[in-house]
Amino acid sequence: VIEVSNLKKAYGELDVLKGISLRVNKNDVVAIIGPSGSGKSTMLRSLVLLEEIDEGSICISDAHLVKDGVYSKPQEIKTITAKMGMVFQHFNLFPHLTVKENLEIAPKMAKKESLKLIQQRSGELLEKVGLTNWANAYPAKLSGGQKQRVAIARALMMEPEILLFDEPTSALDPELTGEVLQVMKDLAQEKMTMIVVTHEMGFAREVATEAIFMDNGEVIESGEPTQLFTNPQNERTKAFLKRSL
Ligand code: ATP
Ligand code: MG
Repeated sequence: VIEVSNLKKAYGELDVLKGISLRVNKNDVVAIIGPSGSGKSTMLRSLVLLEEIDEGSICISDAHLVKDGVYSKPQEIKTITAKMGMVFQHFNLFPHLTVKENLEIAPKMAKKESLKLIQQRSGELLEKVGLTNWANAYPAKLSGGQKQRVAIARALMMEPEILLFDEPTSALDPELTGEVLQVMKDLAQEKMTMIVVTHEMGFAREVATEAIFMDNGEVIESGEPTQLFTNPQNERTKAFLKRSL
């Protein structure tokens, strides 16, 4: 469903992405690992247009978001980005809206379905992430793990084909990461296509169908997670894993 080729991006003199290529198939769970500053977030953000790339192509479900550095027309871009949902490290919930309102605001603004349908889905999704009793609470009242589960439910409200996660558990106290990873595991089991930038090597090993190691703006190595973790081929992958395990 996702095909990225030769993606390049620089901030002034700094080459952040130096020709990234990767492919994500339907129902894949792809874990992206790599040191700080290697360009993981920039890569992910460029898929949802939070970053503008300089060169290369991004193709989502056979439609080009950008081809050889040239972006498609706004209407096409809108259709393509609607297929993706993103979950951030710092949750990015609307503080002045309740949990339920956080879930319902985007579909309400899209005005494509009835209020009844939207409310029904928010109810189902809150149940799915175990937060039915928190529907009318404001984010400030929630723990980090609960906030992130709200953020995941909110992303699911738009019924994306692909979910992107940028270090979803990095801002959480260790005892709260489990509940978020569990929701992600459930989604993987339901065959949701996901790209997850993560430092959770256990999760990457257990849940991912493919692991990608990025360093210094490049994909250094990719493959079946168990293979990549137990038998890395590249020296940089080996050194990184040694530091992280
Ligand atoms: P981390 O693991 O710390 O999240 P990352 O792999 O996600 O790192 P990026 O956030 O993609 O890395 O950043 C890659 C490089 O681009 C870093 O050197 C960063 O300082 C730089 N960078 C990111 N955003 C900007 C920006 N808006 N302006 C200038 N430089 C930036
Ligand atoms: Mg990052």
